[in-house]
Amino acid sequence: MIGVFGGTFDPIHIGHLRLATEVAETLSLSRVHLVPAAIPPHRGEPLLDPATRLDLVARSIADEPGFVLDDREHRRAGPSYTADTLDDFAAQFVGEPLVLMMGMDAFNGLPDWHEVERILQTAHIAVATRPGSEAAGTAAQWLAERRVEPAELAHAPADTPVGRIVPVPITRLDISATTLRALVEQGRSLRYLVPEPVTRHFSRG
Ligand code: ATP
Repeated sequence: MIGVFGGTFDPIHIGHLRLATEVAETLSLSRVHLVPAAIPPHRGEPLLDPATRLDLVARSIADEPGFVLDDREHRRAGPSYTADTLDDFAAQFVGEPLVLMMGMDAFNGLPDWHEVERILQTAHIAVATRPGSEAAGTAAQWLAERRVEPAELAHAPADTPVGRIVPVPITRLDISATTLRALVEQGRSLRYLVPEPVTRHFSRG
């Protein structure tokens, strides 16, 4: 199984990297593609430009062979819809099940994503716990209907129908890119909340 982990990564932080690491370990994923969004459909203009967000992800994962920087959303015109991204993955990696990875806050918004039915027809969903978020509303209902435990999914045959939802407990790290951008604004250090290349990027000049 291949993990697909999208986000704005504005900037990437250790909450993202622990999510990717722990979900990959728990589900025995062969690798994780980190997919920075070029034009995120759900939010305003990022602080960092697309090339910088990609570069910081690349440098932050350089020593981790299980992680791949995937710039496919930057090579496509228009908004970065996850349904299209997953179609692209499915066409490229035929026969390899896909697992879309996200935090609980993102999962709670999933029912409103563009063509979400297509997402559930293309990939499993791994939902990582995040401080302050529990499954709610339609997302909680989907979790109840489609839930599978990590050990079951990790050992499931490759032809298991996709669209299962697997909750994965991870180390709770109360870090968000929003908080980090506020620290930058105040001229404060990001050190130890982010990988070293991100610290260095913001401490220049
Ligand atoms: P922002 O504060 O700018 O919204 P963010 O820190 O939430 O950013 P995103 O790039 O929007 O980061 O998130 C990408 C994915 O990572 C989402 O699925 C989100 O739920 C998850 N995520 C981000 N931070 C954490 C964290 N500390 N713990 C668990 N999951 C996280």
